[in-house]
Amino acid sequence: MRTPTTILLLSSLGRIALSATVKRAEPDRSNVVTVSKITDPAQQCAPYWYPPSDNYSNKFPPTWTVASIVSGDTVAQNKWNSIKAKIPAIAPKGVNGDFSSVNYDYGSDPDCWWTATQCVTSKRSGIPPDVAKIPEPLSAGYGFDDGPNCSHNALYDFLNQNNQKATVFYIGSNVINWPLQAQRALYDGHEICAHSWSHNAMTSLTSEQAFAEIWYTVRPVQAIKSVVGVTPTCWRPPYGDTDDRIRAIVNALGLTTVLWQYDSFDWMGGAQVDTNYGDFLTKARSGEFNRVGTIFLQHENNEFGMSKIMQYYSDMKSVLKLVPVGVAMNKTRPYVETNIEFPTYNEYMSGTTMKPLPASALSFLGVPSSTASSTSATASTSKASTTTTATSGASVTGTGTSTSNASSSSASGTKTGSGASTPTSSNTVTFPVLPANATKAQIQAYVQGMKTMFDSLLASLNGLTRRAAEWMV
Ligand SMILES: [Zn+2]
Repeated sequence: MRTPTTILLLSSLGRIALSATVKRAEPDRSNVVTVSKITDPAQQCAPYWYPPSDNYSNKFPPTWTVASIVSGDTVAQNKWNSIKAKIPAIAPKGVNGDFSSVNYDYGSDPDCWWTATQCVTSKRSGIPPDVAKIPEPLSAGYGFDDGPNCSHNALYDFLNQNNQKATVFYIGSNVINWPLQAQRALYDGHEICAHSWSHNAMTSLTSEQAFAEIWYTVRPVQAIKSVVGVTPTCWRPPYGDTDDRIRAIVNALGLTTVLWQYDSFDWMGGAQVDTNYGDFLTKARSGEFNRVGTIFLQHENNEFGMSKIMQYYSDMKSVLKLVPVGVAMNKTRPYVETNIEFPTYNEYMSGTTMKPLPASALSFLGVPSSTASSTSATASTSKASTTTTATSGASVTGTGTSTSNASSSSASGTKTGSGASTPTSSNTVTFPVLPANATKAQIQAYVQGMKTMFDSLLASLNGLTRRAAEWMV
């Protein structure tokens, strides 16, 4: 039996809900192409589910924590066992990047510790020098650290509009959280290098931790490989913090260390960043790089840094040729997978800034090779038509049913949501309207549907809260 109070409550709910949710289009997160078209930063950063990231989560260390070899990972353990005897007996330095208590001989710099002396030429045999500058004159190795930033579409669109490629140094934890954003770098023709798993100071870590920080970021069945399909052969230590112990580890894993000579310090924000860019441009205009090029450090870790990259692009381009580091080194096979080819420096300068991706790479990304822009098929289902629908990805319905996007492929099936632990989530929820003459059964179904929906939304919110907590680290 309906009471007037119940009817009033339900009709109010319906009115409030309707006014609050007038059909906001849910973006299509079918694959890298559709995700690249999302312009709203908040929508770009809405969590979503992606099988290689989430189904394999037990194969990775927890994101944003110092990596260690995952229990039972015999491949990683065997690899570590095979190289650990080659690692110099250099003790870890400081605590979590706090080096204030380190007693180090800065004069002789026995470990070639970059943080102390900017040393880039190892004092051990068999380890090639770090790359901190590029050989081509009047050129700069162009790129950004700390990606993929979930809201980097405006920056990457900007680069496309300028036919500009970059070297992107991706953090393993970000790759796992934002897999389709990571794929965009490959799809757009940027060079992907690793930037550790959790972005900690490497020389403070034990050798096994340092190994795991690299291993889980680059190697097969690990972050970049499993998400993007390629295995990088270059990396940049967070904060540049490397020494001959860390170099020995990354060398054993087939990686070249890429550092820099000039720093925008864009991650610090403030007016000093403009001064830093200005000082670098002044050096370039004064002939500093007339004989040998350089590398300038920038970040895509926040909107400020990305805005500065775009703001100063024209000025930088007017005085220096801006190229990915690998291109500057004529490294035409930048990945372990040799089917992906990059242009030479001269080809790049002639306008060929990217070689076509092979069909196998496009297939891995779930992008049809014939049609670059995939269809935006939507696949919401709603078993209970009286309740809620979503336009893409998972939907929340009165019966608590969720669906994954029908356009998903084996490699890139996605659905909105914050991970496997979140049963459903949808950023677009259309609330139902209860008929004025609703029957008892309709009201009961309505109440049950609303309860299910709010439970789902709460689960989604909990997922977002976890993600937000990760960002706070
Ligand atoms: Zn960094």
